[in-house]
Order: sequence, then C-alpha cells, then structure tokens
Amino acid sequence: MLAILVRWNRRVNVNTENLSGLLLGWWAENGRHDLPWQRNPTGYRVWVAEIMLQQTQVATVERYYNRFMQSFPDITTLAAASQDNVLHHWSGLGYYSRARNMHKVAQTVVARHDSEFPDDLESLIELPGIGRSTAGAILALAFRQRQPILDGNAKRVLARVFAVEGWSGSTANMKCLWELAEKCTPERRVDNYTQAIMDMGATLCTRSRPLCTACPLAGCCAAYAQGLVAEIPAPKPKKTRPRRSTTLVMAINSAGELLLEKRPPSGIWGGLWSFPELDSSDVITDWCTQTFGAPPTIQRTWPDVSHSFSHFDLDMTPVEVAIEAQPGQVMEGDRWLWYNTRSPATVGLASPVAKIINAVGGEQEIKSGDQL
Ligand code: SF4
Repeated sequence: MLAILVRWNRRVNVNTENLSGLLLGWWAENGRHDLPWQRNPTGYRVWVAEIMLQQTQVATVERYYNRFMQSFPDITTLAAASQDNVLHHWSGLGYYSRARNMHKVAQTVVARHDSEFPDDLESLIELPGIGRSTAGAILALAFRQRQPILDGNAKRVLARVFAVEGWSGSTANMKCLWELAEKCTPERRVDNYTQAIMDMGATLCTRSRPLCTACPLAGCCAAYAQGLVAEIPAPKPKKTRPRRSTTLVMAINSAGELLLEKRPPSGIWGGLWSFPELDSSDVITDWCTQTFGAPPTIQRTWPDVSHSFSHFDLDMTPVEVAIEAQPGQVMEGDRWLWYNTRSPATVGLASPVAKIINAVGGEQEIKSGDQL
C-alpha cells in the first residue's frame, strides 16, 4: 500500500490507491462517457479536444469540436489548411494563440514525425502550445500511458484532498502537486482515471460551492476534514490590471462593405481580421484622407465597449465612417479586406469585432459599457 504523507501546516495521510479506486467507482456511475473525443481517441483527436478545453467549458467545446473535425478530420488536412480557415473555425472560442499553435503543430508533425502524432512526453512538450499537463492527458487518454496530469480541475482536487494551502500556481505548490499527481496516477485504467479526476473537478469539486456531501473522496479529503474547503486553493495574488483604450475605425464604402485589417501574426488577436485602430478619434479625418483620398462623408461615434484579455482590459470606441471609396479602391490582399456582411468571407474574426459586425447588420444591439 502506497501512502503519502504531506506536510503542509498539518499532517495528512491519504492512501493513493484508495483515492484512484474511489474516483474510478464514482466515474463509472457519474462521469462523462460519451464525449466526441472519447470515441476513437487517437492522439490527434484528443490533442484537439485538450487544446479547445483549455479555459473553455465542455458544452461549448463540443459544438466547436464537431465542426472542426468535419473540416479537419486528420493532421494532414489541418496542416494543409490556410491559417485563416483554421482561425475561422476558432472564431468565438477566444485565446487565438491556441489555434495558431495548433496549425504550427500540425505542420511540424507532418514534416518531422511523418504525420504520426507523437506518443512520447519529450516529443510532445517540444510542440508549441503543449505543456506537461496537456501532454500527460494526450498520453493517458489516447495512448493509455501512465502519465500524470495537472490541469485546473486535477490541481484543485489534489490541493483540497491533501490540504495544500496557498495559491496552487506558486512554484513550491506546483512542485508538491506534481509529486502528488504522479503518486496518485494508477498503473491500470489510466485513461479512465484521468477522465475521472477532470470530471470530478469540473462537476463536484468546483471552485465555489463544491458538493462535498456527494463526493466519493469526502472520507479522505483533508480540506473537508479540517474545514478548509473554502480556503483551498487560495486565489492568485492580485496585481492591478492595466487598462488600455483604442479607437476602432468602421469604414463603410459605397457598396456597404466594411474595411477590415489583418492583425500581425503574434500579439492580441494575432492573425485575425479586425477594424483598423487609431489612438484617438481626433485623427480619423486625416486617416481617411490618407487611406481613401477623401475625408469621411458621415462620422458617427458608437457607444464605448470593452473586452478583457488575460492580462489587461481594453476599452474600445467604435467610430463609423462613411467613405466614398469604391470596392477595390483600397487594395485587398494579405492586409486589407472589404467585408460584405451579407455574404461574409471565411476568415477568423476577433470575437468583439464579430459582435460589432453583427450590430452593423442589425442582428445584435450594442450598449454603452457592454463587455464584448
Ligand atoms: S470532499 Fe469536497 S473538497 Fe474534498 S475532494 Fe470532495 S468535493 Fe473536493
């Protein structure tokens, strides 16, 4: 019997074999068994799901996943697709660097691994966007290798069961939690165990109001026994979030098309199409004159809206300008696109931009202060 003794302010003795057995028993009755990526779980299919599931709920991912798999059923199709098409399939899922990284991974796997998705930890974590936990999940779920995971759900369950106090992301706590994850991962049924600990964290051992009375681990959970469930894990120490502001130019030509500009490949909304941005609405007239050869015929400022990125908040002032440019007057190509809202091009749009475009078409209303 393997037992772990964790010293973290208090002594806690948890039997890890029993923990995996309890989790597997609970999962058989209550876990998720019919997710699209659980059917025919190849390395490619599990990898796509794991990347989509980062910071995104299962119900949302299921919709995107099926559409993505229809268009890109295997790694060679994904590698051969244009980045625009990949981003188009990602539009609305957020964190677009995930989609750009997936595209790069697909091209790397085709070029360096003969189109075979790698099945070893070292090769996987060399690929962009695949960290140790994602690699562990791919190896456990697709290849049934005994590899630990430490995604947000597993981290929270382990931190509570072993009463690892403080913020789980600190270096010391991460080291401790990885050791625990390693020791708790069973030799047999590792795919089921991996799914079980993720499901438990997502449905019972939730961040707020966990359902401890229905939990199979209640009898061996140190946080529960010691009344520390609400304190573990502690929130990340707060830094003040910076705020930035920008003016979005919604230039509409005589055919009713909107001018979009492709953003640089890296940085926020990298590779997606967005409205041209200016530091202030004071320079719009000059910008239109330079870009289209004439000032706008009408200028209308829309309500201010905002969008939260992981590390800052962006306040946006959309300004609609009617211009006399004919379609084609601003060169289209890699950088510019006249976007027809009635027959939209298949391109990736930043999520707030897609919502503003919907508002132009009358499908959505935008009010001052809306968080897009
Ligand atoms: S008893 Fe509560 S805190 Fe402990 S693992 Fe179960 S749900 Fe989480």
